[in-house]
Amino acid sequence: MDIQAMLQRAYDYGITYIDKGVVANYIPELAKEDKTRVGGAVVDTDGSVYTVGSDQYQFSIQSIVKIIIYLCVLEHYDFDYIQKFIGVKPSAKPFNSILALELSEKNIPVNPFINAGAIVGTSLLFRKYGNNTFEMILKRTQELIGNDKIDYSRSIFNSESSSAFSNRALTYMLLNGKIISPDVNVDDLLNVYFKSCSILVNVADLAQLSFILSRDGKDSAGKQRCNAEHARILRTIMATCGTYDYSGEFAIQIGIPAKSGVGGGIVTASRAGYGIGVYCPGLDAHGNSYVGTRMLEVIAKELSLNIY
Ligand code: GLU
Repeated sequence: MDIQAMLQRAYDYGITYIDKGVVANYIPELAKEDKTRVGGAVVDTDGSVYTVGSDQYQFSIQSIVKIIIYLCVLEHYDFDYIQKFIGVKPSAKPFNSILALELSEKNIPVNPFINAGAIVGTSLLFRKYGNNTFEMILKRTQELIGNDKIDYSRSIFNSESSSAFSNRALTYMLLNGKIISPDVNVDDLLNVYFKSCSILVNVADLAQLSFILSRDGKDSAGKQRCNAEHARILRTIMATCGTYDYSGEFAIQIGIPAKSGVGGGIVTASRAGYGIGVYCPGLDAHGNSYVGTRMLEVIAKELSLNIY
């Protein structure tokens, strides 16, 4: 398979949908993104990297960081203990739904990939790392991706922290439900979450993360960057919850575990061992990159990745 030619076909198909999708405008800084900017990257099974489109462009990782936050939680707590704070059930409600939290059993967020679940995950890490929590998450992101230049966007962080009212509401509900410890300072906690969402990546960075997840934690040199069992758990939650309340349709259309972010990125995981990342900031009504999802249709089909 000529991966470069395949990636180009995915791009050519994706951009026919460029008019669809709307940039996330509830975070003012994201509303400035150019929705005609499209990129894709594939790491082949031998570690070679292929890219197409705006491959150098750095965008905010947004919800894709929830994979890394939950991985860090798994690395510090037993899975059974974590279940007391964050479930693993799919959600039929939007990623920032207050209603979903209200309806959930004992106010426990249903999964780690909705905002409430990621905020609780951040609070569990905060218990261990206090004011160094964000530095730990950033360092773990750099290690997993294999890029120590990765940093966060101050402007996106400031923009999100001054506009994310629903995340504040969710956090107070979590405090009220005693899912978050009352000694945690809400601003400190949310600043860690917002900074984590503001981490800047390009499509090749996402493809490297995808490569690790797809290969039970091993990078192309065979180095174990995360535990194989943790990679398996993450792939499973990506399959069931990774594209928000679109996860069922995504499973039918694309058929591989994936996690999207409102910045426009999507990272996948496939047991076939490829690493795949795509980007375009125009989103569908669920918060997934519209063009990115279309590109994945082609990539998954041509590389025979559908797991179902
Ligand atoms: N930072 C975003 C928020 O909290 C993440 C949401 C997403 O990418 O789905 O609203």
